[in-house]
Amino acid sequence: MTTLPTSPAAQGSPGSAVARSFLEAFGSEPSGVWSAPGRVNLIGEHTDYNAGLCLPIALPHRTYAAVRLRADRLLRLRSMQSSQKYELELDDVRAGNPPGWGGYAAGVLWALQGSGHQVSGLDLMLDGRVPLGAGLSSSAALECSVAAAVSDLLDLGLLRDDHARAKLAAICVNAENTIAGAPTGGMDQSAALRCQIGHALLLDCRDDSTAQVPFDLSAHGLSLLIMDTRVEHALDDGQYAQRRASCEEAARQLGLRSLREVAFSDQDAALDRLSDHRIRARARHVVTEIERVRQTVALLREGHLPEVGSLFNASHASMRDDFEISCAELDVAVETATTHGALGARMTGGGFGGSAIALVSTEDTQEVTSAVTHAFADNGFGAPHCIAVTAGGPARRES
Ligand code: ADP
Ligand code: MG
Repeated sequence: MTTLPTSPAAQGSPGSAVARSFLEAFGSEPSGVWSAPGRVNLIGEHTDYNAGLCLPIALPHRTYAAVRLRADRLLRLRSMQSSQKYELELDDVRAGNPPGWGGYAAGVLWALQGSGHQVSGLDLMLDGRVPLGAGLSSSAALECSVAAAVSDLLDLGLLRDDHARAKLAAICVNAENTIAGAPTGGMDQSAALRCQIGHALLLDCRDDSTAQVPFDLSAHGLSLLIMDTRVEHALDDGQYAQRRASCEEAARQLGLRSLREVAFSDQDAALDRLSDHRIRARARHVVTEIERVRQTVALLREGHLPEVGSLFNASHASMRDDFEISCAELDVAVETATTHGALGARMTGGGFGGSAIALVSTEDTQEVTSAVTHAFADNGFGAPHCIAVTAGGPARRES
């Protein structure tokens, strides 16, 4: 993984850097530079496959794509973060081909074509400023930066409005699921294409509807601190599939299509009907987490952003104790942040590693960062990577 500077502002002008690299690689200027953000989910974890709610923000960290379309159907793909180069025909793109990161980029062209758009080959240089593999969705940032470029250059109109952007998000999900072979839901691509600056995106996974929710940290003197544990405990022992299966089993036992159908006010009666305590705990996480998203949205709409902290804490406890997807590093990050003044903290993402987030007074950001760094050292963990973020904007043309 590449080590990244802590703030996007400290990284120079990303648009011109990637255009320069394009020129060096291909011997001519790109037609333009497009970008798309990474994301972090504020609350609503493991709710997507239960037809529930989640609430991501776009990060200020973005992936930049310098692109020029070709007259033929050749794809020449390069990244400033990888020595792996690709040259292949668009017609050879299929599940698993090309392997590696090229699948995310080539998959977008393939999926655009599959939904009826006339596409051509292209030359591409990427510069990913979203930390790779930290659970901050560098993969969707990559796809959506390429998708934005192709939509603009071919005049497909898929950035025109939210409705069009929702279609483009679905195309990018198809690229990631089918060509890159990563079974993701739709949150990452929706965030990269549909989030608005200073807002969180309420995403209803039952019907794909969205709403913008104010999330103006600086107006409250607050920062959101992302604490990347830099660990990824293997999920290939089937933990994700087991959690999903437990949720489906709980819904089946209740005779419901999904756990979304359990009314929060009826949860005790519903949970009592489940066959064993583990399934009950899994279902309780989902039902209470969906309710916490609703409460978070209500607080944000009323301008009570600081009060969201206690919902973060409750969400973390639910993932640690009921859903059992936390790990020692995430628990240390969350506990240290809250004992050093954070208004609330929780793990975010799939679990077993990746990142945690903390809602912190901007003036306390340094102190919390250093406390978490020391706590990791005291516990014998590798150094975490902490970055303070605000809610950024969606995919766009840069130059
Ligand atoms: P996340 O999306 O949370 O960062 P993923 O495992 O879904 O984690 O995606 C990370 C993968 O995306 C990387 O291993 C790499 O294949 C690809 N990727 C993302 N950004 C870039 C980039 N700028 N250059 C090359 N590959 C990238
Ligand atoms: Mg990803």
